[in-house]
Amino acid sequence: MGPKKITLNSRALEFKDDFYKDNNKLMCRFCHHSVDYTIHSKITAHIESKGHKQKKDTAEHTNNPTRQLTLTTTMQAAESRKGLVG
Ligand SMILES: [Zn+2]
Repeated sequence: MGPKKITLNSRALEFKDDFYKDNNKLMCRFCHHSVDYTIHSKITAHIESKGHKQKKDTAEHTNNPTRQLTLTTTMQAAESRKGLVG
């Protein structure tokens, strides 16, 4: 196997729980902060950052129906994943 080509699409899929693609950027779902998708360590460093974890934790524990409606599209991917994990 040769080196795998990194694309914004492949990164968005790899980190779909935390990031989405927006134009030519990889954007954090929780911080609305863009990271350089070509540098793997920058992505993982962001995911491991305290600020990101806090925002993600808050988002996952927020049980506001209005917010859930706006997040429906986002949550569909997460739910299919949860189904696999159990
Ligand atoms: Zn973040």
